[in-house]
Amino acid sequence: MSLPFTEEQEMFRKSVRDFVDREVKPHVVTWEEAGAVPRELFLRMGSLGFLGVRLSEEYGGSGLDFWHTVVLVQELMRSGAVGIPVSVLAHAEFATKIIDRAGTPEQKEKFLRPAIAGERIGALGVTEPDAGSDVGAIRTSAVKDGEHYVVNGSKTFISNGGTADFVTTAVRTGGEGHRGLSLLIIPTDTPGFSRGRRLTKIGTHASDTAELVFEDCRVPARYLLGQENGGFKLIMGGFEGERLVLAVICCAQMRLMWEEARRYGHERHAFGRPLLGFQTWRHRLADALTTIEAAEALTYRAIDLQVRGEPCNAEASMAKLFAAEATVGVGHTCAQIFGGNRYMEEYPIARLQRDSLAFSVGAGTSEVMREIIARSAGLEPKASNR
Ligand SMILES: Cc1cc2nc3c(=O)[nH]c(=O)nc-3n(C[C@H](O)[C@H](O)[C@H](O)COP(=O)(O)OP(=O)(O)OC[C@H]3O[C@@H](n4cnc5c(N)ncnc54)[C@H](O)[C@@H]3O)c2cc1C
Repeated sequence: MSLPFTEEQEMFRKSVRDFVDREVKPHVVTWEEAGAVPRELFLRMGSLGFLGVRLSEEYGGSGLDFWHTVVLVQELMRSGAVGIPVSVLAHAEFATKIIDRAGTPEQKEKFLRPAIAGERIGALGVTEPDAGSDVGAIRTSAVKDGEHYVVNGSKTFISNGGTADFVTTAVRTGGEGHRGLSLLIIPTDTPGFSRGRRLTKIGTHASDTAELVFEDCRVPARYLLGQENGGFKLIMGGFEGERLVLAVICCAQMRLMWEEARRYGHERHAFGRPLLGFQTWRHRLADALTTIEAAEALTYRAIDLQVRGEPCNAEASMAKLFAAEATVGVGHTCAQIFGGNRYMEEYPIARLQRDSLAFSVGAGTSEVMREIIARSAGLEPKASNR
């Protein structure tokens, strides 16, 4: 497949690749064991210009398009530990892109500029214990009191939650449903903010995932992003980028697993021949490669639309759905060729497969993706037929 990258994007790829080889790969095991990447990673990436790829030049970003984010994700994925790109992208895309899009000059100066420099770490806080897919059910309240909002409630599953200096937070400022939601930037040194448990996950160990608690947390009203009660649209706009990032992550993960399987299939012998001497393995890996190419084609098509400024909600959802579900089957095939070694920590395939298990959930579950696609395809029954 001819890849859609320009010479300039390939040069960017080379600089990220060199960085990952020299300054990320040697630390993967330490960061996986620590359950988080260190602050120095953000500082270093900020100094290299890797944290503001799509963010405004005025605040230190590069103002580039989504293809550069694709390159960044693909190269970070080569670390072999999905927790690393998740930590970086939760900060450099999910928490900050909304501020770049909807923030005031003051908000951008205070939060965006130091985030791009890697000096302050961001997180996106949407999910709550009783509101995941159903964003309209969010209960964390923000009640206006003079020049402040008083925030009460909690969030869960928040990537970078254990380390973030600010959280781009979905709060309820109005009535029931999605029309009463707003986005508020909450500095984590605000009195009344505290971190709950650091959650123990079965994969993506290098990414810290935590609960957040707000108890009479007084946040300056000027940290409101966009209009009061206009948060749902902003959140959904952000989800489009998140889904594309997730689709790229899935495709890159499948490639890594496939390469591992091919290498092992040539090396490992059974019944007097390499495993790839059996037609069954050649065909299974050929099928897997075909699936990967199909996932990449859908993903690149959605990104192409996004970069051209065309609507791509359904296409991004299709790409994310297909790539996330495909990772399960491709992951199983690529791990199965390892026999018992698929279950051994010393083989990278063990972590690669384990880290893939959240792909069908993060940035919107596969079921939610199907709902979006169904709605855009006019599959919802008319009210009179229900
Ligand atoms: C590793 C990890 C990192 C995360 N990082 C973040 C983060 O940084 N910030 C953040 O805000 N959130 C984050 N999340 C949360 C993630 O976005 C939610 O887990 C996801 O949106 C699903 O919500 P839920 O877990 O509450 O599941 P639920 O919404 O309770 O869903 C449970 C099941 O019901 C299905 N379901 C729900 N609604 C429907 C429907 N209408 N039709 C059919 N089936 C349905 C779902 O698909 C799912 O299978 C993270 C999650 C994980 C696992």
